[in-house]
Amino acid sequence: QTFPGDDSGNNKPRQTPGVLYSKTIPTPVKLPVLLAWSEDLAQELGIAKPEVQQEIDILGGNHVTSSMQPYAACYAGHQFGNWAGQLGDGRAMTLAEWEAPDGKTWEFQLKGGGPTPYSRRADGRAVLRSSVREYLMSEAMHHLGVPTTRALSLVATGEKIVRDMFYNGNPAYEPGAVVMRVAPSFLRFGSFEMPAARKELDNLRQLVDWTIDRYYPHLQGEGRILAWFKEIVEKTAHLMVEWMRVGFVHGVMNTDNMSILGLTIDYGPYSFLDNYDLRFTPNTTDLPGRRYAFGQQATMGQWNLGCLASALAPLFSGTEELVAALEAYGDIFYQKYYTMLGNKLGLDEVKEEDLALIMQVEKTLSTVQPDMTIFYQLLIDLPLNLQTEEEVTNYFKDSFYAELHATEREALHAFITAYIPRIKANTIPREEAQERMRVANPRLILRNYLLHQAIEELEKGEDTLFKKLQVALKTPYSKEHDEFFMKRPDWASQKAGCSMLSCSS
Ligand code: AMP
Ligand code: MG
Ligand code: MG
Repeated sequence: QTFPGDDSGNNKPRQTPGVLYSKTIPTPVKLPVLLAWSEDLAQELGIAKPEVQQEIDILGGNHVTSSMQPYAACYAGHQFGNWAGQLGDGRAMTLAEWEAPDGKTWEFQLKGGGPTPYSRRADGRAVLRSSVREYLMSEAMHHLGVPTTRALSLVATGEKIVRDMFYNGNPAYEPGAVVMRVAPSFLRFGSFEMPAARKELDNLRQLVDWTIDRYYPHLQGEGRILAWFKEIVEKTAHLMVEWMRVGFVHGVMNTDNMSILGLTIDYGPYSFLDNYDLRFTPNTTDLPGRRYAFGQQATMGQWNLGCLASALAPLFSGTEELVAALEAYGDIFYQKYYTMLGNKLGLDEVKEEDLALIMQVEKTLSTVQPDMTIFYQLLIDLPLNLQTEEEVTNYFKDSFYAELHATEREALHAFITAYIPRIKANTIPREEAQERMRVANPRLILRNYLLHQAIEELEKGEDTLFKKLQVALKTPYSKEHDEFFMKRPDWASQKAGCSMLSCSS
C-alpha cells in the first residue's frame, strides 16, 4: 500500500484530511454464526469453507490474521444532487487483498464490522435484514450476468442493534449481521472527488495513476487519464443498460455508490420492478423527487460521471476533451440500449426503422404497466396468429395488476400488431430468436416480497425460503424454479408499505 494513510488505528469518527484511508480494526461481536456461504465464489477464489470457529471468527470480524491490514477508505460524494463532503467506509472495512488461483486479485471487505473513522454519527453495524439483502442480491445479479460486487459469507453476530424504524419513529431492535463482500476493488467515484475537493492534487494523481496501473493496465502513456475516463463512461453506460434489462432499481445512485469499475455496488433500498413503472423508486428517502427512479437511472449515471469528470479536471490542462468524453455518454448508452431491447424482443438486428417499434414497446409497457418479467416471458412464446384485441389482452392477462382500460388494451394491441410482422421478417429462425429472448429476459428475479418473506422467517430462525432462494437465484433464466414465477401478491403492493425501504439499515 503506497497511499497516504492515517495509521493511528483510532476508530473514533473524525475528518481525515490528507489521507486516502485510515487503519482500523473490526470490533468483535458476541457470537459469530455462519448463516450462508457462497460456494461457487469460494471455489473461484480458492478458499475452503470454514469449519472451525476461528475461521468463522474471521468472517465476523472477531479474528484478524497477521497477514491482514484492515483499513477504511476515505471518500466523499454527492448525495441526492448535493455535495456531502467526507463520507468514507463508515461500516465497511477492507481486511486484505487475495490472489485467486487464476491470478485475479480480490479485495475482501467486512460490512457491518463496527465503527471506523468514517462512521460519523452511526454505529458501523448492519442489521440482518440489510445484510441478507446484500448477500442474496449481489449473488443474484452475478448470476443474471450484471456486473456486481460479490458476497462470500453472511454471519449472524448474536447481537441486537437499535434502528429507528421510519414507520412509527420508535427505536426497534434488530438482529445484527456481517457480510464479507468481495470485488476487484471497491473504489468509487467519490474516492476521487475527496482529494479533488480538498485540493490534494498529489493524492489525486497518485490514486488515479495507481487505479489505472492496477485495474486498467492496458492504458499507457500520454492521454491515458482521458482514455481511462472514456472506459468508465462506457462501463457505466453498460451497467445502466443492464439494470434496465433486468428491471433493477438501485435506489441510491449517489456518487459514493458508483463503482470505478462499473460494478453494481452498495446494495441498499434496491428493488426489481414488478409492474413496469418508470417512476418507481424503492427508496422512501427519494420521495417526492424520484431522482433515482427506474427511468432516471441512465440520466443519473451521466450526472455522476459529470462529478467524476470535475474531480479529474485538475489533472487536465483544459476541459474540452473531458467534456466531449462525458457528452459521448448519450450515444454510447443509446447504442447499447437499443441492442439490449432488440435482444429482449428477439430481433435479428436493430435497424433504423426498428427504433419506432422499440419506442412503442417502452411506451406500451409504461401505459399498461404489466409485470415486466412476466410480460417478456409471455412474449417469448407469443403465438404469431393472435389478431383481435381480445385475443391479445387475454394472452397477456397473467401479467396485469389490474383490469385494463380501453386505451390500454388498444395500446397493447397496436404494439403486438406491429411486432408480429417484424418477428416474421426476422432473417433468423424463430427458435433462434426465442433463444436470444430467453438469455436476455430473466424468468426469476429476487422480488422484494420474496426477500421480505425470507428475512421474516430468518429472524424467527427458519431458513427454508432463504435456502431455496440461494439455490434458485443461480439459474434465473431457466424454468427450474417456477414456484417463484408469479406476480407480486396483493399484500405486498407498494401501498401496503412493503416494497418501500429507507437507506438507513
Ligand atoms: P449508503 O448510502 O448506504 O451507501 O451510505 C452512505 C454513507 O453512510 C457511507 O459513508 C456509509 O459508510 C455510511 N453509513 C451507512 N450506514 C452506516 C452505519 N450503520 N454506520 C456507519 N456508517 C454508515
Ligand atoms: Mg455507500
Ligand atoms: Mg447502505
